[in-house]
Amino acid sequence: MAANIYIIGGGPAGCLLAYKLASKGITVTVFEEHSEIGLPDHCAGLVSCKNLKKLFNPPKNIIKNTVKGAILRYDHGEIHISRNLDEAYVIDRARLDKYLASQAQEKGAIIKVNQKITKYERCNRLFKLVSATGELFKEANAIVNAAGVKGLFSKTLNPIISRYFNIIPAIQYELHNVKDISKDQVELYFNNNLTPGFFSWIIPLSEESVRVGVGARSSKLQNRLQYFIKKIDFNKKRFSNSKLDTVKKGLILTGGPVNKTYWDGGILLGDAAAQVKPTTGGGLILSGLCANIAAKILVKASETMDFSTRSLSSYQILWKRVLSKDINYMKYVRYLLDGLDNTHLNRFFEKIRDTHLTAQIILEGDMDFQAKTVKSVIKNPVFIKLLPLTILGLTKYVVG
Ligand SMILES: Cc1cc2nc3c(=O)[nH]c(=O)nc-3n(C[C@H](O)[C@H](O)[C@H](O)COP(=O)(O)OP(=O)(O)OC[C@H]3O[C@@H](n4cnc5c(N)ncnc54)[C@H](O)[C@@H]3O)c2cc1C
Repeated sequence: MAANIYIIGGGPAGCLLAYKLASKGITVTVFEEHSEIGLPDHCAGLVSCKNLKKLFNPPKNIIKNTVKGAILRYDHGEIHISRNLDEAYVIDRARLDKYLASQAQEKGAIIKVNQKITKYERCNRLFKLVSATGELFKEANAIVNAAGVKGLFSKTLNPIISRYFNIIPAIQYELHNVKDISKDQVELYFNNNLTPGFFSWIIPLSEESVRVGVGARSSKLQNRLQYFIKKIDFNKKRFSNSKLDTVKKGLILTGGPVNKTYWDGGILLGDAAAQVKPTTGGGLILSGLCANIAAKILVKASETMDFSTRSLSSYQILWKRVLSKDINYMKYVRYLLDGLDNTHLNRFFEKIRDTHLTAQIILEGDMDFQAKTVKSVIKNPVFIKLLPLTILGLTKYVVG
């Protein structure tokens, strides 16, 4: 008997998993609530070149720009991080999702759009899904909740939901007709008054167009973004004649993955499991890695038709083995940055700029696996003293 698996959510995590499972002959159906895969798109689309190719192997037409480095700005200065190599792609996220869905379909996966799944039920070890239109889908041996942030918080799709604190609302504009933009540098701006808990970003699409956004553990995001564009952008007036193309909004998760990501017959994947980098909120690479691991475990479970808690627990053991160390170091940085007031945040960046640490970050830096770089930074006596501030950063989320 061949296994039948339902995936809730047609984002990159769900579609990549569907492709991997269908390639192994497993009957797989993806349920997507929207009418079109990839839309609406809320992502900034910045992904490391090497891991995007390795995990998703997408066609060239999803790449809009290539960047070689980053400028970290703070009130009193800036740090340039660049090896002068191609480091990250700026991608068309909707196109990536569509490409992954079409790859999955080619292998035999069924993609059902306009199907918002509201709950699942279990009867005689088989799952049935209920959609918002009342439609019933019966007889899956296992289900995967890959429904993004909504899937994380859904009490009916996520039976192991615990409280999750580090949720950062974000807003992003796509602007055209901007000037003096360096096409191959991303700019990140840190100011804990304007963007507590996160940062502002400028991601170039070309010399004349950018994605500019803010994330903040706070309200009035639109005002903050306007302020960033008009006032903070160092009086360069780079945006004064710009034309607004699109506005995107979304929730960024910075607390690292949830503790438990499997249950009897089901797993959580991607943003639904908060498999996201706590430093930057980037989740594409991590969810791709976890989709590969999930595929391996579900293929194995299908061979014996054993989707029990015990069988699926290996999914969590494996992804934690690959990611936990890096996630924990990234959490340290996140809580430290959040624990600093703006004056100390500036001093923090000044210390990095004025020591050998910038060179070290350039030498060792990795967009996705950041443990090595963070270790080098925190070994420095200046930063050891800051350790208690990580606790302050953590309490900011819990207390509000
Ligand atoms: C503003 C912003 C900028 C970001 N920038 C970056 C970046 O530059 N680089 C990066 O790596 N990451 C970035 N991320 C994070 C990245 O977008 C996510 O980590 C990634 O999309 C996770 O993929 P996913 O498949 O798990 O979830 P999603 O992409 O959210 O896909 C989940 C899918 O499930 C569907 N769905 C939800 N509920 C249901 C339901 N009940 N029934 C059926 N379908 C459902 C949704 O419509 C969606 O299509 C950003 C996030 C935000 C908010």
